[in-house]
Amino acid sequence: MKFKKLFNRIESVRLENVTKRYGERFAVRDLDLEVRGGELMILIGRSGSGKTTTLRMINRLIEPDSGKVSINGTDVEEFDPVRLRRSIGYVIQNIGLLPHLKVSENIGLILKLEGWDEAKIRERVRELLNFVSLPPKSFMDRFPHQLSGGQQQRIGLARALAMDPPLLLMDEPFGALDPLLRTQLQGEFCKIKKELGKTIVFVTHDINEAFKLGDRVAIMDNASLVQVGTPEELIFEPSNELVSEIVDSKRKYRHLEALKVKDIMQPLDPGYFLDGSTPAETALKKMVDSGLEVVLLLKESGAAGKISLNEALKAGETGKNLNEISKPLLIFQAEDSLFEALAQLKGEGESMALVLEGEIPAGLLFSDRVLQGLV
Ligand code: ADP
Ligand code: MG
Repeated sequence: MKFKKLFNRIESVRLENVTKRYGERFAVRDLDLEVRGGELMILIGRSGSGKTTTLRMINRLIEPDSGKVSINGTDVEEFDPVRLRRSIGYVIQNIGLLPHLKVSENIGLILKLEGWDEAKIRERVRELLNFVSLPPKSFMDRFPHQLSGGQQQRIGLARALAMDPPLLLMDEPFGALDPLLRTQLQGEFCKIKKELGKTIVFVTHDINEAFKLGDRVAIMDNASLVQVGTPEELIFEPSNELVSEIVDSKRKYRHLEALKVKDIMQPLDPGYFLDGSTPAETALKKMVDSGLEVVLLLKESGAAGKISLNEALKAGETGKNLNEISKPLLIFQAEDSLFEALAQLKGEGESMALVLEGEIPAGLLFSDRVLQGLV
């Protein structure tokens, strides 16, 4: 049987008065939420507030007790659940790669089940690996245990995109990654989102991640939806105390003026630095082998540069070295005012900077980690 996609584009995903109980307890209660086509909707809330349950009712991994979930106006109950799930990408934290299958087989699994022929599957897997910035040559034949955490998340995303679904459900996909990896993947994910124009429902419990990625943010508490809105709406018109508490950046900012960059910076692993004369191809190999998403360099001029995995991949066979392909990286001194450093980062549209103590690299400053560091 040849698979036909249930939908090529999403007009809307609607949850109407949806309730799910386990025994006497509500996992989700009377939830009304509409996700519009092309938007990235964040679900955020404490652990146990009902986020995962909500997400899984969209692809029918969980059936609601009452209420209705519909996609483009059709009740999802009318779809065959298997066909529904193959029409929706699903990415979770520990992405559940099958350990005895190679990367290429993990990504191509659904395609195989759909009866694609081997050559076409290989070509699609190649395309997907390139898309998530993992060189197909060195990754096709690896097994999951030969991958870093960040690489596994990329494979999980590639697998979810295999059938080119117009709707993606993502459940804390970056939750287990360290801050540098996380920032890098979030940045790339923003690009992917723009390129693909997909509709995405994304669960997180990190308000910084929510504000960085989300078009709108839905706040859940105790099985209920508390408020949904753009980040600005939530900040300036919080509907209750809980929302202000979650989004209140003003209170946190008040202390910033006294703080210095060094109070908040993250320690720096010298392994991230490479010499500027390193050929891009050598750097790429090192990044791939050590699971690095980004490498840094210091130039003789005193300026700093960064090279993302994606850029190293693009420059791979051009014979260029890192000096030639690096992007400028802002530098602050450890004693600089944090407030001013953040203002400058924001002004330049950057989210990361190098921190020096004198001339010695001492740490990294991530704008989106700052608020968290202060809570
Ligand atoms: P979140 O993703 O926000 O952490 P969940 O949607 O996973 O929350 O869970 C919501 C509530 O439902 C929690 O109280 C959880 O303990 C409960 N719950 C979820 N799944 C089950 C289940 N299979 N059996 C019993 N209770 C469950
Ligand atoms: Mg959850």
